[in-house]
Amino acid sequence: MKYEKTIGLEIHVRIKSETKMFCGCKNAVELASEPNMHVCPVCMGFPGALPALNAEVIRLGVIGGMLMDCEVNTHSRFDRKSYFYPDLPTSFQTTQMYETIVGKGKVRVMVNGELREYEIHHMHLENDAGKLTHAGGKTLCDYNRAGSPLMEIVTEPVFHDKEEVMEFLRELQKMFRAWGVSDADMEKWQLRCDVNISLAPEWSGELGTRVELKNLNSFSAIGRAIDGESHRQERLLLSGKHIEQETRGWDDDRGMSVTQRSKEDAMDYRYFPEPDLLPLDLPEDFIEGCRQSLVELPIDKRLKYLNEYDLKDDDARILTADKDLSDYFEALVSLTNDPKKSCSYITTILLALINEVEEVSSIKDVKFEVKELARVIELVNADELSSTNSKQVVEELVRNGGSADLIIDENNLRQKNDMSALESIVDEVIASCAPQVADYKSGNQNIFWFFVGQCMKASKGQGNPKIFNELLKKKLG
Ligand code: ADP
Ligand code: MG
Ligand code: ZN
Repeated sequence: MKYEKTIGLEIHVRIKSETKMFCGCKNAVELASEPNMHVCPVCMGFPGALPALNAEVIRLGVIGGMLMDCEVNTHSRFDRKSYFYPDLPTSFQTTQMYETIVGKGKVRVMVNGELREYEIHHMHLENDAGKLTHAGGKTLCDYNRAGSPLMEIVTEPVFHDKEEVMEFLRELQKMFRAWGVSDADMEKWQLRCDVNISLAPEWSGELGTRVELKNLNSFSAIGRAIDGESHRQERLLLSGKHIEQETRGWDDDRGMSVTQRSKEDAMDYRYFPEPDLLPLDLPEDFIEGCRQSLVELPIDKRLKYLNEYDLKDDDARILTADKDLSDYFEALVSLTNDPKKSCSYITTILLALINEVEEVSSIKDVKFEVKELARVIELVNADELSSTNSKQVVEELVRNGGSADLIIDENNLRQKNDMSALESIVDEVIASCAPQVADYKSGNQNIFWFFVGQCMKASKGQGNPKIFNELLKKKLG
């Protein structure tokens, strides 16, 4: 008996607004040097304090929804979800239970070289809770994060393996970063994920009972949790047992999931409409303004690089992983008109150097202008710079900036195409290598590259190897 697994995600993404969702406190938990720096009566839930909805949160949320090709609901509203827990100073979370700001959508993702589409059930806005630290029998509460805005994205149960889940999350990350919706860094708790998993007999066309794993916050932990939990369920099913619908926690150290709460003891959150906030009615021109900012999505760029520029999928993936990089690549292509060479100079030379050179850590830090790299490619294409020497030029550009032509001239790297000068070098090499010439003429074809090498050496690496090649062929017969 074979089982197929089905996975649905509930993803929390911290919106990167200047201030928190309902108050003027800085939304900057990562930058806070101390606990409880960014708090006020509103986010601390003091009696009588009133929330004021942050328009930037709404704008970024709507853009986030549009990036996932979701319907935007012109009318939505907030609900109170009440529960008591020390990380929640208000004793309720302000969320959107019944009328959400964003409805159905779909996200296109490349998985193993294939374009796939995953449905979004909806996305709603809600605020985050604070952070508890348990130490020495005490619990410390830090409310810097309490009241920070979150998008909760709920997918349909549409994934069937962990590869799909990973690529989907990476696509979300790329888009949210490129549009400044969120930095979506899992390590910083800016993106975290509840993973729902069920197993059903292959080909049954049905969905099994789902188990929810809470708050996974690294790609590798998600992968291990999907493997571990689906094996647990498979073992139960194969031994004739049934799966309980429950919430489990993933214990990454022990590599297993453990029961947190079953369906029976589900909490009663006493949802009711938030009395301190008006329903949210979005004006047409506001929605239109958000739509205006939606230029080409990363997935569309990737498809363009594949289909129009004829790049390999791996390269297209690397170039679209980060908006600064794809912007740089496109600026370079617009100057060189040579997507393939532009791609290889970025992916094989420039990125390696950025990695290596300490003062430069991303494409944004490079000190030279794009047109200098375009000039390098132009000179290589015009046979005025060998590709070997071009690497030296790019390295110098990355280390010290400057101009490609100056670097080439200062280091005598310009390729010599002067026929008569190159011809005399060829003649000298042939005259000084009589035994090798005899060897070649008696049929040892392999030795031909020895002559090319000698010519390159004699020209101090500046001769055009193509011309040497032709001259040698002619002269050696
Ligand atoms: P509820 O209303 O009980 O919260 P939902 O239908 O909203 O449940 O689903 C919550 C999450 O669980 C969604 O991400 C959804 O894709 C996922 N999910 C629902 N049913 C299944 C299933 N049978 N297997 C895997 N995931 C599921
Ligand atoms: Mg739910
Ligand atoms: Zn506040």
